[in-house]
Amino acid sequence: MFTRRGLVAGLAGAPLLIVGLLTAAPRAARADAAPPPRSPLAVGTGGAVASVDPDASRIGVEVLREGGNAADAAIAAAAALGVTEPYSSGVGGGGYLVYREARTGRVVTIDGREIAPASFTPTVFTGASGAPLDFATVVSSGLSVGAPGTPALWDLATRRLGTWPLGRLLAPAEKLARDGFVVDPTFAAQSAANADRFRRFPATAALFLPGGAPPAVGSIFRNPDLAQTYEILRRQGVDAVYHGALGRAIVAAEAHPATAPGVTVLPGQLTLADLAAYRPVQPAPTHLRYHDLDVYGMAPSSSGGTTVGEALNLLEAYDRITRTPLATVDDAAYLHRLSEASATAFADRNRWIGSVPGVPVGGLLARGYADARACALFDPAAAHPRPLPFGDPTAARPGDSTGRSGCDRTARGTVAAVDDEGTTHLTVADRWGNVASYTLTIEQIGGSGITVPGYGFLLNNELTDFDFTPAGPGVPDPNLPGPRKRPRSSMSPTVITRGGDPWLALGSPGGATIITTVLQVLTEYTDRGRSLVDAIAAPRLSSRNGRAEDAEPAIEGGATGAALRALGHVLTANPEIGAATAVRILPAGRFEAAAETSRRGGGSALVAHPDVHPGGRG
Ligand code: GLU
Repeated sequence: MFTRRGLVAGLAGAPLLIVGLLTAAPRAARADAAPPPRSPLAVGTGGAVASVDPDASRIGVEVLREGGNAADAAIAAAAALGVTEPYSSGVGGGGYLVYREARTGRVVTIDGREIAPASFTPTVFTGASGAPLDFATVVSSGLSVGAPGTPALWDLATRRLGTWPLGRLLAPAEKLARDGFVVDPTFAAQSAANADRFRRFPATAALFLPGGAPPAVGSIFRNPDLAQTYEILRRQGVDAVYHGALGRAIVAAEAHPATAPGVTVLPGQLTLADLAAYRPVQPAPTHLRYHDLDVYGMAPSSSGGTTVGEALNLLEAYDRITRTPLATVDDAAYLHRLSEASATAFADRNRWIGSVPGVPVGGLLARGYADARACALFDPAAAHPRPLPFGDPTAARPGDSTGRSGCDRTARGTVAAVDDEGTTHLTVADRWGNVASYTLTIEQIGGSGITVPGYGFLLNNELTDFDFTPAGPGVPDPNLPGPRKRPRSSMSPTVITRGGDPWLALGSPGGATIITTVLQVLTEYTDRGRSLVDAIAAPRLSSRNGRAEDAEPAIEGGATGAALRALGHVLTANPEIGAATAVRILPAGRFEAAAETSRRGGGSALVAHPDVHPGGRG
């Protein structure tokens, strides 16, 4: 069966595919142009942008050089990602922005998550027998498509946080779409991995399988339809989506996707009224203290902020229980603690987080709650059997301090772990002290597979982030589908301040592994003293409270993996987890931007004015 994991594993096998493309397809061997250079590290002044893509980072940094702020650069770069990373982002999707405003010193957020149609009910994804519909069937169908939130987020961020009009910010991406970009191995591999699915939708095949085959590495990929979409948004604003012709085209494509002969797919239920009702929301950020740092993240509808936050609190609780700080333990003990913390936090995430009233955000982030959970569940010498039970944070107070809640041995319930996976993260900081951490997505790589004919972008399949059926018997599930509801996300854009000053921002794609990737990169940097690039490059482990946990090959096949197995961990090899970017705001107006060295072909970290001799950690 096609599963989320199956798709991830398929894409994780990209290097093989790339070899296949290069050897089997003469088209692919022809290099019309060299792709722009990539660099995982940049240090200098004037602001910084880190993304997975060199064109997007370049466009963001040009905005900074020309006097735009972090919000301006983030939106311009995000629009560029819509061109070069069309399988992971774009105007047909949604996302979350966490933003530290220099003017007020406060951290604000924008939730631009997609919403379900008004007609959705909790059983929309079940058949007559009550069994869940086949996941893959729903993914590549109109039924998975939520009303896009990305254009509304761009509009609100521009008006509320930016200094340039949206039209000016979209112009470089429009030019990029029209002129084209050089196809790299990742884009070619992602196209190939999706080819069968894309062939089901003629508008998608016509765009992304030119001449019937995935675009060749080194060829120029142009998207004049998307250029026209950006031109429409530039001239008409985002009303074109929520109240205009672009919205009518989205609804038509979603409600009755045009398919290849002999292919039928489930129709969608979105209406023009759903688009007109779309509003981005601005929840307070999640906040907790970790060591001497203030960590800000995304509140529900994302589970990112609470889950990363609870796990950080648990790590501090483990320090107290063992009287051995995380900074001083070896690789296996570090990963053991990381795994136990994330599995515990995922148990709570799956029980408590969804777009419902009364999510106990404060309780989940209370230190006393973490102490009680750690005391009941953590053993430094053994992995707790999965799944770990969820706890009850409803009585915990945000101010609860160490030990006050005692040892919570009442936790009993368990809820099955979920796995999900096409997203991209962008981290920007400017010279005034504004910081943008922005994760955006169309959910799976290639989204629903449905391109809006004539407009050059894919529609999301975000609604498959709802639970199709209740996650556990007899336990309320806050993430069932509902009218105009936002599906639960794992996106974890994070901004960290120290002593009130901006210090670090980071994030990653990767579905539910986003949470564990952010947790690991952060602790590799803050606790283990790695450089920012090394913290990102370090081999990853992802435990999400399933029976087995994902481990990259350097862990799974090595001595650390053996040590983890000896503690009772069940490891499954995953060739590649996440694609993080980060920016460290250094003293004296300097910045360190960092990205992946090899995952997804390596990322692009840039600063406005690079040092002649880049240094490291400041
Ligand atoms: N739809 C996922 C979420 O909101 C993100 C997908 C991905 O990162 O690949 O958590």
